[in-house]
Amino acid sequence: MGILDLFRSQSKNTNQQREQKDERKAECPNCHKALSKIPGAKTKCPHCGEFMFVRTRPKDDARVVVTKAEADKIDEEWSIVAGTHDIFVAEKEEFAKEKEILRKRFGGKEPSDNDVRWGLLNKQLIEHAKNGDWGLYRNARFQMAEILRGEMKLKDALRTYLEVCYLDLNGPNNTGGMKDLELLKEFPPFNPKDFSFLAPGVIDLIKRIVLKLKMSKDEIKQVFVEHNSRIEKSLRLPIPAEKSWQALEKEI
Ligand SMILES: [Zn+2]
Repeated sequence: MGILDLFRSQSKNTNQQREQKDERKAECPNCHKALSKIPGAKTKCPHCGEFMFVRTRPKDDARVVVTKAEADKIDEEWSIVAGTHDIFVAEKEEFAKEKEILRKRFGGKEPSDNDVRWGLLNKQLIEHAKNGDWGLYRNARFQMAEILRGEMKLKDALRTYLEVCYLDLNGPNNTGGMKDLELLKEFPPFNPKDFSFLAPGVIDLIKRIVLKLKMSKDEIKQVFVEHNSRIEKSLRLPIPAEKSWQALEKEI
């Protein structure tokens, strides 16, 4: 799920009016015996001596009287809701900030959502490259290809999908900013020997585009080698672009 999908689904949820329901009963959740009044907060049951807790469930906003175990579970559910909400707020703020930067850069013209997504992905690329998180870098490039395809910029999309394949064939790893040279030797940022792969979903997208563009295999090869030779140099990848083509050629 991308930033925008999250943004959309979350804003839909917050628009829904939620009504708090009171489902508290004058009954002990432990021994199920009747109580003289409905508990308003943590109380000890006069029958079994166990504690009863009052909580609001996040999923339906209902107030309920529950056991200790149930209360712990509801508290955990709330922490998950809060965690997601934090990410949502942070992403929304980041999105708005990038939009403002682009608006200035565009001389006051309103940037599209894709412009903003593209700008954020570019920032992610820099961050992932800096940390040696090449798996994440590859995912960001894939998302960029998806934006290009969505905008019907098929040649640019194809070039970017071919780059994703080239990165995949080089076995990208996430090294999380690790600087220890000994460890990097053991867990290299690119490890084609152990992690080289091709994603069937990406191959499928490439096939669909080349069919639409009526491209021959030679033409695809030319785009692949030309574009990825530059990537090879700038990222210092272990498998040459020319050699990677042989692996991809069999699949498309
Ligand atoms: Zn009880």
